[in-house]
Amino acid sequence: LFANLPEAATDAAFALIEAYKADTFPLKVDLSPGFYRDEDARPWILPSVEKAKQDLLNDSTADHEHAPILGHEALIHSAQRLVFDATCEDTATIASIQTIAGTGANHLGALFLAKARCPRTVWISDPSWINHQEIWQLVDSGIERQTYPYFDKQSFIIDFEGTISTLNLKAREGDIVILHGCAHNPTGLDLTKDQWKAVADVCEEKKLVPFFDVAYQGFATGDLAEDAWSVRHFFHNTSLEMLVAQSFSKNFGLYGERVGVLHVVCRTEIARSKATNMLSRLSRAEITTAPINGAKIVAKVLGDTNLKQQWQNDLLHMSHRMKSMRKRLVDALLKRQTPGAWEHILTDIGMFSMTGLQPDQIQTLKERYHIYLLPSGRISITGLTEHNVEYVAEAFHKVTVA
Ligand code: PMP
Repeated sequence: LFANLPEAATDAAFALIEAYKADTFPLKVDLSPGFYRDEDARPWILPSVEKAKQDLLNDSTADHEHAPILGHEALIHSAQRLVFDATCEDTATIASIQTIAGTGANHLGALFLAKARCPRTVWISDPSWINHQEIWQLVDSGIERQTYPYFDKQSFIIDFEGTISTLNLKAREGDIVILHGCAHNPTGLDLTKDQWKAVADVCEEKKLVPFFDVAYQGFATGDLAEDAWSVRHFFHNTSLEMLVAQSFSKNFGLYGERVGVLHVVCRTEIARSKATNMLSRLSRAEITTAPINGAKIVAKVLGDTNLKQQWQNDLLHMSHRMKSMRKRLVDALLKRQTPGAWEHILTDIGMFSMTGLQPDQIQTLKERYHIYLLPSGRISITGLTEHNVEYVAEAFHKVTVA
């Protein structure tokens, strides 16, 4: 029965992670995964998270019962406030449900839209987080997947004209537009505030449905409001119905806990009640209820003034480290006069940048230098440390001058 299954390609990112783990070379460097690493390239437990975990351990009333079907209530409320800067009045028209991290929020949102609105087309940036295409393909219900040209590969800048004109000329009423709230994955290039306003205007004029993916709030720049500016602009300054997939994986370092929330901004209470019912049914059939451990940690941090302050310090710590490694890498490449365009790495946002390195160079980096990056040439800055940055720059130099 299963021997005749079609071949499914292995996931490039997770295959690299395994190859890196199996590599015994002492100077190996992992620039592939989207996980934060500390000054010694090790996983980092945020001090705010550690403290919240300890407090939860001491809670003698805790049990292992199910969360409600919409998820851990304190998490949902804090999540709404965090991403939308929402008042109680605002939240009366938002249908929110806890999900299996950002991936689950993207997936449930796609399923919901497919059932609720039957859009003709979903517009995804080219390039994008690889799972956007995968998720919409999986949800497949006749919805066409199209891309808008986000990235100018030659100049390492956003193709804003291409983005706007594609949406203007080709998108039709009811179409979905996937937008990265901040720290665009994989390019690290974000729209300016004026450009966001222009995208919002197009969405309003053409009656499109924005679907924000917010996987890096606070982690990108260290500033919670700055990283949510795009979402908040659409929420407060337009009347668009929209979706937001919110992940707590990166900004809390809770990758394996799978904490996320999907928000559907409905604008009326009747619509909210209908959306809530549909989300509950879809989620019930997939997961029954969401996991509670990570949800409690996030809710604890966001609900406690001191812990929240500590968390903001933790976010600044991570974003400062990424910024300083960006500078160290660019300095080391410029010092060597390494061929290529490198300076954009200084201003890219979040953990990723495109290098422009070609597949054969990437292969050589892996085989000869034990440096791992995705075939697209995307690097994750968090794999860089003071100990390996010169080694990485030297290897980039060697493969580009070869
Ligand atoms: N969206 C984007 C743009 C991402 O980069 C990621 C993580 N790489 C996610 C969503 C989902 O992350 P998770 O499911 O781990 O929360």
